[in-house]
Amino acid sequence: MMAGRQCVILVGGRGTRLGALTQNCPKPLLAVGGRPFVSYLIQEAARHGFRRILLLAGFKAESFADELAALHKHAPGNVELSIVTEPVPLGTAGALKFAAARLDTHFLLLNGDSIFDVNLLDLAAPPFPAGIIGRLALKPEQDTARYGTVAFEDGYVRKFIEKNPASEPGLINGGVYWLSRQIVAHIADGFVSLENDVLPKLATGGHLQGTVYDRFMLDIGLPDTLQQAQSGVPARMHRPAVFFDRDGVLNKDVGYAHRSDQIVWIDGAIAAVKTFNDAGYYVFVVTNQAGVARGLYAEADVQALHFWMNDELARSGGHIDAFMYCPHHPQGTVAKYTRASQHRKPAPGMIVDLLNAWPIVRDRSFLIGDKDTDIAAAEAAGVRGYLYKGGNMANFARKCAGMREL
Ligand SMILES: [Mg+2]
Repeated sequence: MMAGRQCVILVGGRGTRLGALTQNCPKPLLAVGGRPFVSYLIQEAARHGFRRILLLAGFKAESFADELAALHKHAPGNVELSIVTEPVPLGTAGALKFAAARLDTHFLLLNGDSIFDVNLLDLAAPPFPAGIIGRLALKPEQDTARYGTVAFEDGYVRKFIEKNPASEPGLINGGVYWLSRQIVAHIADGFVSLENDVLPKLATGGHLQGTVYDRFMLDIGLPDTLQQAQSGVPARMHRPAVFFDRDGVLNKDVGYAHRSDQIVWIDGAIAAVKTFNDAGYYVFVVTNQAGVARGLYAEADVQALHFWMNDELARSGGHIDAFMYCPHHPQGTVAKYTRASQHRKPAPGMIVDLLNAWPIVRDRSFLIGDKDTDIAAAEAAGVRGYLYKGGNMANFARKCAGMREL
């Protein structure tokens, strides 16, 4: 039931510009910061809720099967990784067409040799008007001599403009796409390139939207950019975090809420989550759920509710990277959960576990809670805590982070 969204990654290219480096190793598997480059893409997709990852392999496809364990190591446990191998080189669009039967109605597509640090769910957020086949993440670039650019107007990509040697500012294709499966009908048989053949036609036909993100982007296609990636990509994964308490902070505290019909979002809470997704923070929920120990509901109910909350947030382009909950209570009625716990706030266990598991910049991170026990937990974990007493959550959270109010 909790299948999650689909992310397709193009990993079939030959990588000829890197010479001997890619003689025996596909570019997306080159080591960056001590791990396969594509593992960063998988990790980023997974935290945005893309839990089914499809790798479209070609050149040295067997290497991906060999590295599957290493790729899983950098993704949450419930991520499903699979590989489709083209029988002969088909190009980026040809590879998509070959995998047509495996594609969701809508899916995220990533180039396997570049990273663009954007809120992936913002790109995927509805509305998706009829006739739109895809939406591209566009990057403003001061010097576009290395790239082709796009003509962008009223939210639509109108045209692809070929590389020219002039050092002009412009918008480039960031290699991150939200696509409808209908794109397959626009792909001819044989070797077909997405960038050169399919997207330009979709653009002139009015089928392509775009969203501009002035965020970090790097492709590893050249020896010097591969070198930059070694420290640049791991550094980029170190982010500040916001820890939200749940009841009374994201949703109104009605007492032991455990079903979606009991959730009324706090004013501005959905916007608050998305604000920090957009700004490149990790966003977590840390919530005491003693209702499990008291026998009022099961852990599965908590998990299903959190899955539902992420679905709700996704409609607005937001998401929670991880939900932490503590089902224990010393005065429970269910034996399995009846005990004191270092994870139950005011103890800091949930926050400490997140600090240990994620590359978090602690001194720029903070917690928002509505009880003194939330603040105590934050302080015990070495993170600032802010007590919310009402009002618009987006404005409150922005103020906590030193951002301007909306
Ligand atoms: Mg609360």
